[in-house]
Amino acid sequence: MKVLCILYDDPKDGMPKSYPLKDLPKLEKYPDGMSLPSPKGRDFIPGQLLGCISGELGLRKFLEDNGHEFIVTNSKDGEGCEADEHIIDADIVISQPFFPYYLTKERIEKAKNLKMAITAGIGSDHVDLQAAIENNVDVVEVTFCNSRSVAEHIVMMILSMVRDYHNQHNIVNQGGWNIADAVKRSYDVEGMNIGTVAAGRIGLDTLRKLKAFDVHLHYFDRHRLPSDVEKELNLKFHETVESLVRVCDVVTINCPLHPETENLFDKELISKMKKGAYIINTARGKICNREAIVEALESGHLSGYAGDVWFPQPAPNDHVWRTMPNHGMTPHTSGTSLSAQARYADGVREILECFFDKTPIRDQYLIVKDGKLAGMGAHSYTKGSSTSGFEEAKNYKKLN
Ligand code: NDP
Repeated sequence: MKVLCILYDDPKDGMPKSYPLKDLPKLEKYPDGMSLPSPKGRDFIPGQLLGCISGELGLRKFLEDNGHEFIVTNSKDGEGCEADEHIIDADIVISQPFFPYYLTKERIEKAKNLKMAITAGIGSDHVDLQAAIENNVDVVEVTFCNSRSVAEHIVMMILSMVRDYHNQHNIVNQGGWNIADAVKRSYDVEGMNIGTVAAGRIGLDTLRKLKAFDVHLHYFDRHRLPSDVEKELNLKFHETVESLVRVCDVVTINCPLHPETENLFDKELISKMKKGAYIINTARGKICNREAIVEALESGHLSGYAGDVWFPQPAPNDHVWRTMPNHGMTPHTSGTSLSAQARYADGVREILECFFDKTPIRDQYLIVKDGKLAGMGAHSYTKGSSTSGFEEAKNYKKLN
């Protein structure tokens, strides 16, 4: 079979000769008891780069030893890109949300042999799920592999925005010491109201991590959490997202991107937020309206916006979120720490082993199966597509 894998660029100076840490902590299981990815074999060293071209998700030996063709490329956008040449006869395509190969209806229809799209990570919105359903292409992702990595990033971003870390770090880098400038936008989070839109794996883990800061915790979700969890975290449930945003000083967005959540944070919803609130969005860029965020930061209605997700990706060099005031954006990195890479590389290998052995892929990994939403997909997604506008990704030019 032909396996096409789209990965991000290697470091500019080539693969590291060494890494800061000798090894990774050993985790036993996820907090809800789900087991970590458990492939039969592994051909990489955990803690090393796997999500970039030379890392190859540690899959080459396994695939080639089993007689499969393995194509790895970072050429994914614009006419004539390498991925488009290979998708025509690929059986399986692997892509990471950090550097997504947008699997549009047009591409899916051209891919006559395509049987499965694997998301090496979580969030399969870069796949036109409607087209996958109609063309019998299964879609799977490595549920939980990096949820807790993202929750750590969210806590980091909440603290860095509210305390105004970026500004203070810049002052030091520039040789300065003006304390008043450093603290004129700096607050404690203690006592604040912090709410999550969605309390799934990331949202709930974020709430748990935040509890230690003595804040008031809120959530909105389509399904309510068990009452013992609400009690343990002293959580306030909101029936609507409007009700949550009206009272929160910080709103963190943790739902998947699908037609129901696309553009959820538009001008109208943002106008209902508390004046001076912060948004942390590590879910997907398209959940927030690009222009409405900029406007709210410029007017001061929002005090800050941070996150690691953009639309499209890579974000064009002139994407306005790169230059808007009081932002704390990173490239899409929260779910691809070296720790997370080892888990999702293992997860992809587990999925491939199941596929080739014709044994069932874990239900938790399924988004679309046999022409319908299945597993996690049936629980958290709605039918349709959120890929429109992806073409803009070709406008990104690599910096030297
Ligand atoms: P989960 O599936 O565990 O949680 C998703 C939650 O979103 C579920 O509780 C689901 O609710 C809820 N949800 C779905 N639709 C809505 C809606 N319309 N309104 C409110 N809540 C909704 O996934 P994770 O927590 O692991 O990941 C969530 C998302 O975070 C991913 O889909 C992805 O987009 C993003 N992500 C980002 C990463 C990064 O690197 N920045 C890495 C990993 C994920 P219910 O099931 O109750 O219907």
